[in-house]
Amino acid sequence: MFEGFRDRRLAQEIVRKIREEAKDLDRTVKFMHVCGTHEDTVTRSGIRSLLPKNVRILSGPGCPVCITPVEDIVKMQEIVREAYEDGDRMIVTTFGDMYRIPTPRGSLADLKGEGYDVRVVYSIYDAYRFAKENPDRTVVHFSPGFETTTAPTAGMLKVVSEEGPENFKIYSVHRLTPPAVELLIRQGTTFDGLIDPGHVSTITGVKGWEHITRDYGIPQVVAGFEPVDMLLAILYLLRMVKAGEARIVNEYTRSVRYEGNVTAQRLIDEFFEVRDARWRALGVIPKSGLELRREWKELEIRTYYNPEVPKLPDLEKGCLCGAVLRGLALPTDCPHFGKTCTPRSPVGPCMVSYEGTCSIFYKYGVLF
Ligand code: SF4
Repeated sequence: MFEGFRDRRLAQEIVRKIREEAKDLDRTVKFMHVCGTHEDTVTRSGIRSLLPKNVRILSGPGCPVCITPVEDIVKMQEIVREAYEDGDRMIVTTFGDMYRIPTPRGSLADLKGEGYDVRVVYSIYDAYRFAKENPDRTVVHFSPGFETTTAPTAGMLKVVSEEGPENFKIYSVHRLTPPAVELLIRQGTTFDGLIDPGHVSTITGVKGWEHITRDYGIPQVVAGFEPVDMLLAILYLLRMVKAGEARIVNEYTRSVRYEGNVTAQRLIDEFFEVRDARWRALGVIPKSGLELRREWKELEIRTYYNPEVPKLPDLEKGCLCGAVLRGLALPTDCPHFGKTCTPRSPVGPCMVSYEGTCSIFYKYGVLF
């Protein structure tokens, strides 16, 4: 099914068209994506090196694990300690990259090192299974992610709300992608076009992005994750910029509909409400967080344990994650990159997560 989207000849032909279109540009144009998987495709396929010098690709805040606030990770650690003091041998589950994200008070992996029961899972369903297998222990899924991950979380909550088990809880650090794009625009990150993440758009639909074009005049392309998808997105954006058009084009029609996944949207809306929320290294973004609705608060662990956590620094001194997440720097601009900061010994969150730009650059050996 995806072979055509990896076809070398087709890719070369699109690159040729991009170069043709870029020939008579009188300036450099910048297109931003907001997706770790898009960055993986761009870097793995060497797309930046194929583009003319006056077409640049920026990487925005596309890594939900990277932007999970330090205070929430630390609060999760404190909750586990309090629960143990109360005699509840709480089990915490989360995804593999979230497990290793560093904070000034250590990671969830460090918590495991202290002897607490922290488990890496592939999906929230594993946490649900652990809860059923351990009825005398609270199981908390520390739940990060953008719209794509929120949908299965809401699905799981639906099951738990109807059938139990009562010892299953979540700690929601879910976030919404479009408000982060708006924040960057308002704060002065400039780009000529936006490449929308295909998996998020499968949930939100094309309509979930329309306001960016309407309110800020920015052309957009919803794109899939193969090299040809990304190249087509760049070509379509380039053509729109040259024609002075601001439209939104759906390149990923094999997955994304205009309305999106209405069933998933309803499910998310049933359990979550939108709130202002903090993003690591980006600050508070209006209407960008998802918290459980009042009627479902019994499913949120902070209803039972909510220890005070001091404000902690988001990043180590010299870490440029904030600028990387804003599309203002590439990992190679950071003096730590590949030297004092590597996936084995990460200084900042962007080097830990599979979706972090620094980790992706390192994985594919981008050192220039
Ligand atoms: S290379 Fe490391 S220190 Fe530099 S921005 Fe990336 S995560 Fe931060």
